[in-house]
Amino acid sequence: MTTTPSAARSNVEATLIAALGDAVSTAPERLNAFVADTYWPALHAAAAGTPLARPDIVVRPRTEDEVAEVVAIANEHRTPVVPWGGGSGTQGGCLPIRGGIVIDLCGLDQILAIDERSMTVTAQAGVNGRRLEAELNARGLMFPHYPASVEWATVGGYIAARGSGVLSTRYGKIEDLLLSLRVATPAGGLMDTVAVPRHAVGPELTQLFVGSEGTLGVITSATLQLVPVPAERRFAAVSFPSIAAGTDAIRRTLQLGHRPSVVRLYDDVATQLTFAPVVGEELSGVYTVFAFEGEAEAAQLEERRTLELATEAGATVLDPALGRRWWDRRYDFYHPPHNPELPSIWGTLDVVATYDRIQAVYDALHSAVREPYADTGLELRMHFSHWYLWGTMIYGRFVVPDGGPDALALHDRIWEDGMTAALDAGGVMNDHHGVGIKLGPYMRRQHGAALDTMRQIKAALDPNGVMNPGKMGL
Ligand SMILES: Cc1cc2nc3c(=O)[nH]c(=O)nc-3n(C[C@H](O)[C@H](O)[C@H](O)COP(=O)(O)OP(=O)(O)OC[C@H]3O[C@@H](n4cnc5c(N)ncnc54)[C@H](O)[C@@H]3O)c2cc1C
Repeated sequence: MTTTPSAARSNVEATLIAALGDAVSTAPERLNAFVADTYWPALHAAAAGTPLARPDIVVRPRTEDEVAEVVAIANEHRTPVVPWGGGSGTQGGCLPIRGGIVIDLCGLDQILAIDERSMTVTAQAGVNGRRLEAELNARGLMFPHYPASVEWATVGGYIAARGSGVLSTRYGKIEDLLLSLRVATPAGGLMDTVAVPRHAVGPELTQLFVGSEGTLGVITSATLQLVPVPAERRFAAVSFPSIAAGTDAIRRTLQLGHRPSVVRLYDDVATQLTFAPVVGEELSGVYTVFAFEGEAEAAQLEERRTLELATEAGATVLDPALGRRWWDRRYDFYHPPHNPELPSIWGTLDVVATYDRIQAVYDALHSAVREPYADTGLELRMHFSHWYLWGTMIYGRFVVPDGGPDALALHDRIWEDGMTAALDAGGVMNDHHGVGIKLGPYMRRQHGAALDTMRQIKAALDPNGVMNPGKMGL
């Protein structure tokens, strides 16, 4: 853990207080609220009383101009500045590992405009996901980005971490749902990107900030695509004879133009340990849930064709109530008694790949993690949950019941073996959890020479390297 030298710190603090008054805090209880996101090593270290990070100053701006002011002051004083949204990130992305300023974005909580004709919402970065959804639903609208962390995460965090929601197979990831944004960078101050995402007025700068994890600037607001609350949402459940049969049937379904909103295919271990307890049945095999939505007739057609193609691949069609129950309880997976807690070790090996490689990636994770660590009691539950025309992602959740005294070393070894195997098998290391600290060491391997271009882009926008330093391998 690093902190800013005390003379420099009081200088920055005085400048911030002169500019933002009581939005600035150095109260220990306030600083202690920003020592861990949901990155396992951060939780582990905080529980041991030796946090990985602690800010020197927390600022909670009330306006977007105030955010720009904080960024300008940090830049002028060469002080690290780290955006913090809901703190639900799993990669250590918002940890102030070099001290400095945390910008707590939850003060930017305004829904600025809803355009019911274009079906867009403009919201400030700190708007909480669940609140946004409730306000939109009251008008018959929805923002079809439902991450499992919706109750904690913010609009800015969705974009900065390049996230995905449970309905992504139909509606896309956050980058598909984003029209434009406003961002404060050290070099450019506050700027708006072009109002629409499809244009030919030069490169698309909105997308430059998607997945930038606070290393280029602070997103202060964004305009997002909405859809109507669907007239109908139907559910189905099937059991496939194998992972290969299931992934191939779903590939065919999508490539024929059908768009189920939910497609979640669990391998046998995940069916038994994740799916079955939440739906309250004893099950085993390759269970898969689907949802279909929109206008009633269209949803029925999607359902019929999807189930026909699944049956052709050897699937058994099950009671649709299983799918409905999964939907109703889908957030239970992340709450007691289903979620792991310390002293367990846990993590999600999220890997995405084209259809020609996905089975190899699955097999590689199985061989590198599930088998070698079986003596630690490790369970690796893998499901496939975000599907594209070209491929899909594997959500490989591992849990070791008790890491013991060398828990951190064991955690790191599992990650190293899992990521190495996934990359060697032709996977891309992550579909929607971002990089943060956790995957920074793999960025050269993932990007090759392109990492140097990313560093050059960062140097142009953040010449003094104050934006979220030490993250993303930058
Ligand atoms: C139980 C659980 C389930 C999850 N499920 C999902 C899921 O289904 N889908 C998914 O995509 N993710 C999921 N996540 C991961 C996480 O919730 C998402 O990455 C989420 O988008 C992070 O939002 P946040 O507001 O909490 O961001 P934070 O954790 O606060 O920040 C994440 C990163 O973004 C940066 N950042 C935050 N706000 C801004 C901003 N305004 N401008 C610039 N940079 C910013 C931070 O510095 C950090 O690098 C899950 C996490 C948990 C704990």
